[in-house]
Amino acid sequence: MGLHLPDLTRTPKLRSFVDAMGLLLQSDPVESRVMQQGKALLGQLIQHDDWLPEAFSIVNPERYQQFLLYVDPKETFSVVSFVWGPGQATPIHNHTVWGLVGVLRGCEQSQAYRFNSLGECVPDGPSVLMHPGDVDCVSPLAGDIHAVSNAHRDGVSISIHVYGANIGKVRRNVFREDGSAKEFISGYSNLLVD
Ligand code: FE
Repeated sequence: MGLHLPDLTRTPKLRSFVDAMGLLLQSDPVESRVMQQGKALLGQLIQHDDWLPEAFSIVNPERYQQFLLYVDPKETFSVVSFVWGPGQATPIHNHTVWGLVGVLRGCEQSQAYRFNSLGECVPDGPSVLMHPGDVDCVSPLAGDIHAVSNAHRDGVSISIHVYGANIGKVRRNVFREDGSAKEFISGYSNLLVD
């Protein structure tokens, strides 16, 4: 059994993106270069909302969905569509690897968090409203903890995420505002196929 993934021959924009990301990462660049150049590449991918296949944009009224779109054979990076139903939100969480988040459809609200001297998890600066075409970065170096929500209370939002690992398998944490942490592995929402 494997995950149902998009056919890259039918999604040339996604294919160009993963080819370009693969080339960028092959050169084993420093994180700042991945962020800068990856941000530009993701910005191009989300410039037009005309390529994401239907199967990877399906809303689940119960919870936000994370569909794997691509992972390279060495699991150096993964691309995920994040599909938000009305009012859905993540808990406060980290990633442990670099990540890029670009809004394709709708609107997202993103709030960064940090640990204060008392060990509490507190908002780090104002929350940011992200519109289609906007790209945000997370990483252990640049700030790795945030909570994200669909800014639309009555509509769907979709963002495209890129991470420096097969993110669905990564052991990471959700946090409460008192600073307590719980480990989680996100997995993916894709249909399973033989
Ligand atoms: Fe996140």
